[in-house]
Amino acid sequence: MKEEPEKANHLFEKNKTYEFEIDSYGNNGEGIGHPDGYTLFVKHAMAGEMVRVKATKIKKNYGYARLEEVLESSPERVKPKCPIANKCGGCDLQHMSYKAQLAFKKSQVYDCLTRLGGVDKSIKLEMLGYDGTEGAWNYRNKAQFPVGFDRDGGIVSGFYVARTHDIIPCEECYIQHPDINSVVKKIMDIIRAEGDASLVYDEKKHTGWLRHIFLRRSETTGELLVCLVVTDRDKQKKTTEKITKELTEKYSDKIKGICLNINPDETNVILGEEFITLFGDTCIEDAVGDVRYDISLQSFYQVNPYMTKKLYDKAAEYAGLDGTQTVWDLYCGVGTIGLYMAGKASKIIGVESEPSAVIDAKNNAKKNGITNAEFICDSAENAASSLEKADVVVVDPPRKGCDERLIETIGNAHPDRIVYVSCDPATLSRDIKRLSEYGYELKKACVVDQFWQSRHVETVCLLSLADK
Ligand code: SAH
Repeated sequence: MKEEPEKANHLFEKNKTYEFEIDSYGNNGEGIGHPDGYTLFVKHAMAGEMVRVKATKIKKNYGYARLEEVLESSPERVKPKCPIANKCGGCDLQHMSYKAQLAFKKSQVYDCLTRLGGVDKSIKLEMLGYDGTEGAWNYRNKAQFPVGFDRDGGIVSGFYVARTHDIIPCEECYIQHPDINSVVKKIMDIIRAEGDASLVYDEKKHTGWLRHIFLRRSETTGELLVCLVVTDRDKQKKTTEKITKELTEKYSDKIKGICLNINPDETNVILGEEFITLFGDTCIEDAVGDVRYDISLQSFYQVNPYMTKKLYDKAAEYAGLDGTQTVWDLYCGVGTIGLYMAGKASKIIGVESEPSAVIDAKNNAKKNGITNAEFICDSAENAASSLEKADVVVVDPPRKGCDERLIETIGNAHPDRIVYVSCDPATLSRDIKRLSEYGYELKKACVVDQFWQSRHVETVCLLSLADK
């Protein structure tokens, strides 16, 4: 049977103006209103506000509209600090007070858990967020700035406008650490002073050289790792030398390493396979509590150093270790969570699919003199079925959540506790529902706000067998 084309809604029309109240939030922090029972999504509008909007897309059951004017403002509305906050895809919540950001995140997790996860509505969520006085800014320890051209052919670095590949120039990002911004600006000043457009990668024509500037910073040592992602290893030797010399001079006490990453392909993927060291090291050292970690450029590492310890402490609290347990640390990255808990466990078995991270994890165990941790390079879903039995299973998957095969293995392995660290409440809730089929119940959950100013949400959950 042929599918009927989706009909537009008859009450609403594209480009027309409407006034109504915003009553809730969508997954991305956008406001939602229900004029005449229809559903309209309005970016940068806040719950409780009366707004005037212009409809931009009308579908049968829901549509999108652009905020034209806030007629009655929420008391929690604040002026975004960043001039490009509404354009760049990075900080979706800058128009909300920090208190309102936390409330949005908590309600988003609550809604997902109760609606998608089948969790009882009486669940009380814990919440950990920024608790300082200077404002929840300048926290990120990792940056990937695309380099390219603006509409007038000017050489720029900054961020992609949401859902496009147009670069909006930005050399002072308020959620990055100031040292990261400073290094990017210095590199861009050198590139611009060279006055040679062929130094810069043109994504549309697939010509040029410098594609991205990738940086990591360690909060505990202040060290910086700088990587220029370029199309060719041999071209632009003079500029490469100049950047290396000027960075090592200007930031002599901070630069730990400078490298090239070679990405010759016509692709959206940022990093290519080959790294060439220009100066110093390819790893950076950081610490969470007493545990020190070496982190390679391409390995995953938590981006908010002010919250990582709080996150791991909560995961450790939920794991409830007393020195006798065997723990699986699945999706372990550079071994961070497992090594953080190793002192209170009998044995840690980490599994991670990214080979560079597994090498880092093994080195990190040695670096800390930890002898009861082993690390396996494989997918969690492949490896788990042949691991020795665990008392506690920690999972920290990427946004798509756990593979169904892994849920089955964990469910059948009957660990006493499952600690689920998640960066996506929807897949977390789906997996909690799947685990409930094996008798597991959500006992505790804590929203940990790692991503200040942005819509992203981190949650730690404790699940155990319903009758325990
Ligand atoms: N727990 C770590 C890393 C979490 S990020 C920390 O707190 O730092 C998720 C990690 O899962 C990444 O390192 C990613 O490389 C890895 N990964 C992605 N898919 C995987 C899979 N199917 N099996 C195992 N690891 C995977």
